[in-house]
Amino acid sequence: GLVVEDIRKGFGATPVLKGVSLRVEPGEFVAVLGPSGCGKSTLMRIVAGIETPDAGRVTIKGRDVTRAHPGARDVAMVFQSYALYPHLTVAENIAVPLTMRRLSALQRAPFIGGLFSGDRRRAIQADVERVAGPLGLTPLLGRRPGQLSGGQRQRVALARATVREPHVFLLDEPLSNLDAALRVATRREIVEVHRRVGAATLYVTHDQAEALTMADRIAVMQGGELLQLAPPAEIYDNPADIRVAGFIGSPR
Ligand code: ATP
Ligand code: MG
Repeated sequence: GLVVEDIRKGFGATPVLKGVSLRVEPGEFVAVLGPSGCGKSTLMRIVAGIETPDAGRVTIKGRDVTRAHPGARDVAMVFQSYALYPHLTVAENIAVPLTMRRLSALQRAPFIGGLFSGDRRRAIQADVERVAGPLGLTPLLGRRPGQLSGGQRQRVALARATVREPHVFLLDEPLSNLDAALRVATRREIVEVHRRVGAATLYVTHDQAEALTMADRIAVMQGGELLQLAPPAEIYDNPADIRVAGFIGSPR
């Protein structure tokens, strides 16, 4: 699982996270709700290892990874901005986590065809096709990100994040660019990946319906603090304080 203990982070004089602690068990899905600017993405980036906290500890599978490299944490993250490699095809973008190659090597050549051969290449292609299919990406595998819509890019980012089954799965508003029908289908896809892998999942969303239907527990954040972390019914029926009640509003 994932354990976050008393994480603090400021940018300049501005405190952004003021001591956030939470625990996500393996197989548990936690939705993170909170107003814009409350620190959700910063928290995700610290868990992913892209940002270093000023204080506090991140533990994954019982190991202190607070200072560990992002690649050494068994974490996959889908960003708000998809962060695809523009020079690689869709298939190659999805395959990036499957390779131990350095990015400098990836930048030189299309690597599925160029750097791998034989069985290794076929195995990578099979993995790419397995995650691409349900997300409707099969016809797009040969394109580059510049030739995709925002929603298509988002799905490529999802495919890439799930191609190697991560222990901790971080999603930062991964559906914000999808139309309504695709949103619902992709929700299901995310929950299925989460279940299949048994990941400890943190899922940032602005959409309360999404949090209600997908999450085992909801974490409500505001102003760099975690106000409440509880199952959806409890958050709605028994908000910890007036700020939670005010933010959640009436579900009916
Ligand atoms: P949103 O819902 O809009 O995505 P958020 O909850 O994800 O918001 P964060 O991106 O974590 O919010 O940002 C929290 C605060 O920290 C904001 O006030 C933001 O301006 C500030 N911030 C984030 N990153 C940096 C940075 N690198 N340098 C300075 N300030 C930053
Ligand atoms: Mg954010």
